[in-house]
Amino acid sequence: MALIKCHECGNAISSSAKACPACGAPAKLAPKTQPGWNTWPVAIFVVLPLGLATIYLMNSGGNKVQECTERGVAYFKEIGSYPRLSSYPDAGRTAEEVALERCKRTTTAF
Ligand SMILES: [Zn+2]
Repeated sequence: MALIKCHECGNAISSSAKACPACGAPAKLAPKTQPGWNTWPVAIFVVLPLGLATIYLMNSGGNKVQECTERGVAYFKEIGSYPRLSSYPDAGRTAEEVALERCKRTTTAF
């Protein structure tokens, strides 16, 4: 029988006690059985693929922004607004800057 600390007063109480003898606070329920038994498969089969998927999505998202920015710059060249834009609301800003800003908002901007 192990001794645990009362979460209310810090008094050492038996882990089998239902309440603290000093302050009467109900003892916290002990964890059921062996938490390590079922958390490891969860960690490996759920958390790891999710982590990898997140990294993959972040990378592909980054590529999409870059591709979109390249399309945007090509577009600005085509309409004669390169290297700096001449029309409102982005007059005077560089084409790259504006393209990147729009692509960060949505990768289908161009
Ligand atoms: Zn107590």
